[in-house]
Amino acid sequence: MSANAPSTTAGSSGYAEFHRRSIEDRDAFWTEQAQMVEWQQPFTTVCNYSNPPFARWFEGGLINLCHNAVDRHLKDRADQNALIFVSTETNEEKTYTFAQLHTEVQRMAAVLQSMGVVKGDRVLIYMPMIPEAAFAMLACVRIGAIHSVVFGGFASVSLASRIEDASPKVVVSADAGSRGGKVVPYKPLLDEALRLSSHKPERVLMVDRGLAPMPLTEGRDADYATEAARQNGVVVPCVWVESTHPSYTLYTSGTTGKPKGVQRDTGGYTVALAASMKHIFQGEAGQTYFSTSDIGWVVGHSYIVYGPLIAGMATIMYEGLPIRPDAGIWWELVERYNVSVMFSAPTAVRVLKKYDSSFITGRNLGSLKALYLAGEPLDEPTAQWISGVLGRPIIDNYWQTETGWPILTVCNGVEAAPSKFGSPGKAVYGYNVKLLDDATGAELTEPNQKGVLAIEGPLPPGCMQTVWQDDARFVNTYWKSVPGRMVYSTFDWGIRDEEGYYFILGRTDDVINVAGHRLGTREIEESISSHPNVAEVAVVGVADQLKGQVAMAFAVPRDASLLTSEADRLKMEGEIMKRVDEQLGAVARPARVRFVSVLPKTRSGKLLRRAIQAVCEGRDPGDLTTMDDPAALRQIQDLLAG
Ligand code: AMP
Repeated sequence: MSANAPSTTAGSSGYAEFHRRSIEDRDAFWTEQAQMVEWQQPFTTVCNYSNPPFARWFEGGLINLCHNAVDRHLKDRADQNALIFVSTETNEEKTYTFAQLHTEVQRMAAVLQSMGVVKGDRVLIYMPMIPEAAFAMLACVRIGAIHSVVFGGFASVSLASRIEDASPKVVVSADAGSRGGKVVPYKPLLDEALRLSSHKPERVLMVDRGLAPMPLTEGRDADYATEAARQNGVVVPCVWVESTHPSYTLYTSGTTGKPKGVQRDTGGYTVALAASMKHIFQGEAGQTYFSTSDIGWVVGHSYIVYGPLIAGMATIMYEGLPIRPDAGIWWELVERYNVSVMFSAPTAVRVLKKYDSSFITGRNLGSLKALYLAGEPLDEPTAQWISGVLGRPIIDNYWQTETGWPILTVCNGVEAAPSKFGSPGKAVYGYNVKLLDDATGAELTEPNQKGVLAIEGPLPPGCMQTVWQDDARFVNTYWKSVPGRMVYSTFDWGIRDEEGYYFILGRTDDVINVAGHRLGTREIEESISSHPNVAEVAVVGVADQLKGQVAMAFAVPRDASLLTSEADRLKMEGEIMKRVDEQLGAVARPARVRFVSVLPKTRSGKLLRRAIQAVCEGRDPGDLTTMDDPAALRQIQDLLAG
């Protein structure tokens, strides 16, 4: 940014004014923020909201995400670290400077181009946390291809539905991931997914880590090292794309069984991330950022790969557990690489809390400015513990795959503000946050009223543009019209206090959050229902001390005579868990599968999931006057008591 460019921070009038301007003087505000990134051609319209709820940010502008993340920094920091890869699974540690990253990304881009990938094509990335995954993401956006990363923990059925929907020209994968020292082969899962999917990609590009067999299908599959050697030194210029050109899709769970492809633009996303790195994370070029997430999740997209690199920071990509070889590993990395900003999830902190705090206090963590936590509710004991041990600000932030960057937090980069335990903070600039009455949709303006957390349109830059290939689903799923405006529902309950701090009270839909992983109960139910002896099943999220929530399943067998003994029931429970592991992945595996003769339903046949959940958590199930057969809930109560 030039010295006389307008200031992008609050000035003397504080955060409230900063937020007010972002809403009331939206175009001027975002024009200023957009100065933080480089445009090949300036935009002509800041926000085209002529067709609500579709917002088109920075129309007329030409930009490239890879240019802003990599090439742009070559001038000032070519020899500084850009990507630091650490695997405690394979005991590797490798750093890439911006110049080296530039070379690697071009190599990957050249390979993709040699396979026919051009602007607008989809490339599905199903990979463990290895540098090639980041190269592939950056290579795609470099050439205008749209990547779709699928979390490596998902199995064949989950993967197949995403391949089907994204219809990629190429799939990039690897022989295997590794977790806790155990190799998890990817190729068999990928091959099975490709068999299940009606869409068949033209090519499959495989990175061979030497961990597992990787049989290549002639004519379709290629070995990355061989292909890359052919492209050595090839220069692949950035393809300048319209600001509104999709950069990626990322699938996320909702109420229905079919995951939604959250589609993100390019220009708005680049600006939103650059601004968030400054105002929220206070990251500075030349420093190191460490996000412990996975590239398969939105945090990995925004704050392992793109955000830190856009800010000219080095980013750590870590493959492994937080407690292996011991519970000090993350803090060892913070010390070794002088990490200034760290981002993790409450579940990880709860895991660390079980170990001696000297794993943390025994390190020189002088470089660390703050720890950011997101993805699930941050409970007060966990927040208190880590705050005490670390002696640094712990900053909760609330957002979603759909938004791509925080909705609620404290923006200390704008104005230092206290955090409140149990609250992620206030509405972030750009977000016109509302609480709506669930029944009437009316806005709740008084403090301490419970409502559905909503955002008045347009969503700020960087948020989802639409559902991939399904505008109607985008509108119908997320948006409600209230006279004169449209509001986006987060599907979370919330409360706002007198000072504008929000508190999140859980989802309004059937989405559960297990260790920060968002799962749709319907997807799990569909998988369980495929067991030949399951007639019907209900999956609910139940509070768990460590993981926040776990999935619990209650199934009605088709033939109860096969389940007369405890051994029969355990056997079938094991079969169901294995099925979920194989189809969806271990992340979706229920903690328990219990068998009942009937499920609690309303007289009109709607499953009473909330009542089941309440009973599982020892709470009052509430008004049951519409229940068809009260014995159904009692059966579950008795099972849990026994
Ligand atoms: P995901 O799209 O996987 O990031 O999941 C988004 C959902 O996770 C939100 O709708 C919330 O239900 C939950 N969530 C994310 N961050 C927080 C947070 N800081 N506090 C409470 N819930 C959160």
